[in-house]
Amino acid sequence: MSKTTTLFTNAIVLTMDEDFHLFEPGAVAVQDGNIVAVGLETEVKPRYADEAEVVDCAGRVLMPGLVNVHTHVPMTLLRGLADDLRLDVWLLGYMMPVEREFVSPEFVKLGTDLACAEMIRGGVTSFADMYYFEDDIAESTAKAGMRAVLGQSVLKFPSPDSPSFEDGLHRSEEFIQKWKDHSLITPAIAPHAPYTCTDEILQKSSEIATRYDVPLHIHLAETASEVEDMRSAQDMPVIPYVKKQKLFNARVIGAHCVHIDDGEIHTLMHHGVGVAHNPSSNMKLASGAAPVAKMLDVGLNVGIGTDGTGSNNDLDMFEEIRLASFLAKLDTMDPTTLPARTALLMGTRMGASVIGVDDVTGSIEVGKAADLILVDLTRTHNMPRFSHNSDNIYSQLIYASKSTDVSDVMINGQFVMRNRELLTLNEKQIFEDAQKVALQIDDFLQDRENSVLLKLIAVGDAMEEESFEVQAKISIDDPEVVLKALESDQYEIVYRRLYHEYDTYFGFADKADGFLRYREDHFMDEQGGVEQVRSRLTLIGPESEAVQDDVLLSRSRFLAPATQSERFYREYFKPTSETEVEKIRQRFLIRYHGAEFYVNIDEMIVPEMGFFLEAKSRTWSRRDADAKSIMIVDLINDLQGGKAGKSQKGDYISLVQAFKK
Ligand SMILES: [Zn+2]
Repeated sequence: MSKTTTLFTNAIVLTMDEDFHLFEPGAVAVQDGNIVAVGLETEVKPRYADEAEVVDCAGRVLMPGLVNVHTHVPMTLLRGLADDLRLDVWLLGYMMPVEREFVSPEFVKLGTDLACAEMIRGGVTSFADMYYFEDDIAESTAKAGMRAVLGQSVLKFPSPDSPSFEDGLHRSEEFIQKWKDHSLITPAIAPHAPYTCTDEILQKSSEIATRYDVPLHIHLAETASEVEDMRSAQDMPVIPYVKKQKLFNARVIGAHCVHIDDGEIHTLMHHGVGVAHNPSSNMKLASGAAPVAKMLDVGLNVGIGTDGTGSNNDLDMFEEIRLASFLAKLDTMDPTTLPARTALLMGTRMGASVIGVDDVTGSIEVGKAADLILVDLTRTHNMPRFSHNSDNIYSQLIYASKSTDVSDVMINGQFVMRNRELLTLNEKQIFEDAQKVALQIDDFLQDRENSVLLKLIAVGDAMEEESFEVQAKISIDDPEVVLKALESDQYEIVYRRLYHEYDTYFGFADKADGFLRYREDHFMDEQGGVEQVRSRLTLIGPESEAVQDDVLLSRSRFLAPATQSERFYREYFKPTSETEVEKIRQRFLIRYHGAEFYVNIDEMIVPEMGFFLEAKSRTWSRRDADAKSIMIVDLINDLQGGKAGKSQKGDYISLVQAFKK
């Protein structure tokens, strides 16, 4: 008959309880998944030795398992896919497009298996996640035997598991109902971030979290630009904004909170928000240093997270706890800030309270679940050892020990690793399967990176279909002639606009890619003030052909609203050339012989090229294009009082050639 009690003896027991009790040589007894005794070996051993399976912990620290308070576990399969990029380019240009293509229930299960294997090896026993198909993540996590708070993501745009935010909310609610009473899994809802959600999503998520009394996991104030954008859109920073959406009615796990001020720290404190601090991710993406020392000073609960492996790139909590301490010291220029013991507290009991599981885990105390790890202190980098001061052991663990020193891991009373051998996961199979997925993603990205169009589609919110455009453009001496002609009865002016137009033409090594134009239209009022700014991206096909002698048919014009900055597109598309064009455009939509045409009078400012007259029309077929092009030649001739008619095409091409330099 196997013994139901496990007795750890001969250990350096680090309890991480309220009084930071240390026992050496210490012992811990575990029965039915729970800790039933902890203390000096001389006291505990006699009571349990006869009935227990004894684990001799010589040379090892016995401590509570680490708590990773913020991660995205399936992203292990995206580890190393795209690095050294700015957050927006990384997230919107790479992570999200690849996720849309590849993330499925099978994908997240495999990614979770890999993450659980890595975390168990590194002494993590609990984690808080946020991702898609969280139900499948829960299954894999429970199978691996890990404790977790799992947040089903909700976003305002289509995600891999939900075509709309309504679906996301519905999926979250079903997920919560299904897992509500599981012994290892705490379900949660995860509206991704204020900038990827709407007011309604934040409010409804908070309602759902409150109704089911589950945590709400969200990214908050991660970058300075997020806060700037929020200020310009809502006239307030991120924390007051989410408070206004009643987010803090729920128990909130706020990831990052890098760019928040003293007032916001107090707001978080007042509402019992737990902060998930992610030093590696904040450093790697150059997001900044969260004011962790201040947060701890006012009594805020701050835990430590690895964030996803896309931005870290591992799930090593030993490293993360160490970096939390180092980053706080550097940020405050004070080496006494965030000492080792406090850092380890954040990685254990305080982290457990951030994610709402401190009643069962985070410290070695009678009545808590047996989430325990053994750390080997006999390896080279841990030698020698001092013990004149009770804090020596904490600095030993945080500043010298490594995740690979973890030899044994028990979660909820079950061993999941013994003597560095994983008991619930088959690493060989996981590695093989993960490599297969990596090869598929490699192929996908290689194809995409070779095509400007595919890259544009990957980040375009709403692509318009391919359209054809017929246009003629000529250089003119006097725009007044045209303006006067437009007053004639043969033209009906549907509307006229005036704007200052700034274009950047991105060129590429492969001429077949054509040009990508980033255009900002600054609409001007009568007084010349800017009324409104609109940005668009247009992929202009490489080939323009003449349908008439003087008229060009350009094809493959793909349009997308430019929702990101010009800097984003530059870093994402990596053009090999750039040409700036600036002009003042008077645009008319006119009706001429029953058809609609745009007539533009452009004053070219950069490059300084004088005035141009352009007429164009969108068409849907080649035959239509032929008819329109004849009309355009007539139109231009009319507008110029019959003076035009030669070398329009030549002029147009010379302008295009100027861009190609
Ligand atoms: Zn994150």
